[in-house]
Amino acid sequence: MKPTGAAQMAGVAGDPIAHSLSPSLMAAWIEAAGLDAIYSPFRIARSDAETFFRALARTQCAGLNVTLPHKQTALAVADQVSPAARAIGAANLLTFRDGIIHADNTDATGFLSALQARGVEPARGPALVLGAGGAARAIVYALGQAGVPEIRLSNRSRSNAADLARDLAPNARIHDWDDRDQGLDGVALVVNATSLGLSGGSDLAMDWHRAPADTIAADSVYKPLQTGFLRDAAACGLGTVDGLGMLIGQARPSFEAFFGISPPERIDAHALLQAMLEPAS
Ligand code: NDP
Repeated sequence: MKPTGAAQMAGVAGDPIAHSLSPSLMAAWIEAAGLDAIYSPFRIARSDAETFFRALARTQCAGLNVTLPHKQTALAVADQVSPAARAIGAANLLTFRDGIIHADNTDATGFLSALQARGVEPARGPALVLGAGGAARAIVYALGQAGVPEIRLSNRSRSNAADLARDLAPNARIHDWDDRDQGLDGVALVVNATSLGLSGGSDLAMDWHRAPADTIAADSVYKPLQTGFLRDAAACGLGTVDGLGMLIGQARPSFEAFFGISPPERIDAHALLQAMLEPAS
């Protein structure tokens, strides 16, 4: 239906924002659910973010997804913060009720949903997380919540991995970046949470022959969908989970928080976004 003057409203704020897939996904869910609702992209400069969030909280807007570079500002501006957002140190979801701003982080549960959708049980063995930025923090938090028995970390800047371990995984073993393949011995899950593999950049190379045959490789990068990291793992016969699963997984609880219902199951969100990323030539 076409939105009316009584439409529910939500959106996504970031800078840049034009690349975001969230508006297309949310629009498909809104249409399929027959909601009178709008989900808008907002390009907001870093210096305007706090003012923007506070002003929007005083409107009829239900909330916002928040992406780079505003995830820390979103946390700082909130009146109420979920345990996940507090532990991760970043918020990707703000909801507004009576002028009160609530911050949450659904990247963590989104990552676990992506594994679950592919039948991957993270607690079945050790996990190696590559990276120590915002995505890695959400993923390590998620793995801890899921009861992963051993977390291994490797990051280009070892000090950032040490900070991540201190905050979220005190028992993690840290491998120097150049020795990251050592983390593959006996591993069950390997996650690329670096920005390596993004279109136009370098790939993340691993010696996949060193990993057990039932290892799963998961990527947070989804542009391109088939990163070199996943392609190489698949070529060694390993199972893979692409980065769209995490994106869709964080969007579902966001939709529920904004509009009070689950996204309609009949929309194949992965196929929808894959078609946007890989248009038929
Ligand atoms: P950050 O900038 O916070 O972190 C970037 C990470 O990549 C750091 O660990 C950094 O290492 C590492 N890195 C960057 N360049 C290199 C390089 N040349 N060699 C080795 N390591 C490198 O970004 P985010 O954590 O927010 O995002 C990481 C990726 O995850 C992005 O591709 C993003 O698109 C994706 N993402 C996907 C989501 C999804 O829903 N699928 C959600 C959120 C993010 P160092 O500490 O040394 O700088």
